Amino acid sequence: MKLAAMVIACAMTCAPGAGARGVEAPMAAEDSGIYAEVVAMLEREAAGQLTRHLQKSGKLRQVSVDIRLDMSGRSMTINFGPGYLPGPEGSYDELFLQPMASSLRFFAGKSGLEINDIRFLFEGRSLEDYYPEDLAVPMRSERRSAPTSALVSSSHGYISLHPSREWKFQRPAPLGLQEDTLSPVYGDELQALIEQRSGLTVHLARSRSTELHPESNLPWQHMSSRYHLKALFPDRTDMWNEFPNSPESAREKDEDIRARPNYANHLGADVLISLHSNGHDSAAIRGTEVYYHQAKPQDKPLADSIICSMRELIRAQPGYQTFPVRETSNQGIHGENRIGKMPSVIVETAYHSNPEDVAALQDPVFRSASMKGVEKGYRLWATGKACEPLALQPLPDIEVPLQSSRDVNVTFAGNPQFPVVLEVGVADCDRPGVCTPLKTTFNDPSAPVMFGASCSSTRPGTVRWKVLIRDADGVVAAPVEFTQACVRS
Ligand SMILES: [Zn+2]
Repeated sequence: MKLAAMVIACAMTCAPGAGARGVEAPMAAEDSGIYAEVVAMLEREAAGQLTRHLQKSGKLRQVSVDIRLDMSGRSMTINFGPGYLPGPEGSYDELFLQPMASSLRFFAGKSGLEINDIRFLFEGRSLEDYYPEDLAVPMRSERRSAPTSALVSSSHGYISLHPSREWKFQRPAPLGLQEDTLSPVYGDELQALIEQRSGLTVHLARSRSTELHPESNLPWQHMSSRYHLKALFPDRTDMWNEFPNSPESAREKDEDIRARPNYANHLGADVLISLHSNGHDSAAIRGTEVYYHQAKPQDKPLADSIICSMRELIRAQPGYQTFPVRETSNQGIHGENRIGKMPSVIVETAYHSNPEDVAALQDPVFRSASMKGVEKGYRLWATGKACEPLALQPLPDIEVPLQSSRDVNVTFAGNPQFPVVLEVGVADCDRPGVCTPLKTTFNDPSAPVMFGASCSSTRPGTVRWKVLIRDADGVVAAPVEFTQACVRS
């Protein structure tokens, strides 16, 4: 029924002459002018990628590509000419267009052109114009004052191909790391963190059972969400079987993309977090990314909070201080983010097609830190707090009378995970050996972080202290120093 409606919608809007080229594209000719060579290179690259993509489905076709820059918005609009219009079967080619966006962003960046968001038009019009019914963003569910549940959806899993009924993982594993089986392990970690720290009930989109799925004889935990939901809700074909008449061999992949947010809607979950690792033909592309849907800008603050907290947590770990994490979240066109009525984001923890990222993805330290970042980003957003760096306020120099003590209050910005450890080390002591460093743990977030600066000696002297705090997740504030003088009263 849905398919028929979509065909009609297209018949009405795809009439010849509709959508003059570039009419709706943000025009910024002067921007494009400065970067004319880069833009021409990117256009050739995009056209080449599209030609190869179409060839894979047996179509030999050249499609023109026109790129417009909007430097003030750090965005780029890619307009495809006649001959290319992806549809619901194949999930609007999101698995082709998203990687294309990544590579164009990468190549643009290499040429000094920092681009964050990339939009696609087809003969001047967005996909939403062609498929208004199917691509309508669902009415957002009322945001509860006290959220209770989250759906954690961990990537893909086996699907059955038509007509062979061969079972295949959805994602390639160019360096041997299989996203389909890796991300559920990340999901376990995130589930525990959200339950412990955010206090939500967490539902999982895929089974974690090691028993065998009878139809395929493969472990349940490796199956796509679609089959898990089929077993849980056999009658709810609207949830996991939206394309029964599709001619696509991988139609169950398209169904799986929709099944996960459909399940989130069924649960009435307060948030949908999808965990993936990213993949690209170019091994040079790497790093952490978070996506929200371009038609749901209200999800951007959540996505930004998550990428910000992931950056904090990942870079706090030894060896990951310079791990690439994007500055902000990115717009995307993923059905997984569009269909949920709740705030929905996709976390691409790292690239399974880049060797350094693959090493990180297999490291429990990286796994734990990245998932702590996701939970923290969600929690800060849900409680209306800003993601900001842990930073100590300056401490004034003090004078302490001999044989007495003064309290020093340590105040800070940021959102440390308790317990925090306060370290007061010696930067300089005028009587070496007499100044005693201090290390104290604070468990209660509502109690002040403070220590006593004492002068037990009977002789005056000065010490320069170096103070830092370290939170339970390894996040450390840059040290601040102050001088304590022990003086005669
Ligand atoms: Zn994925």
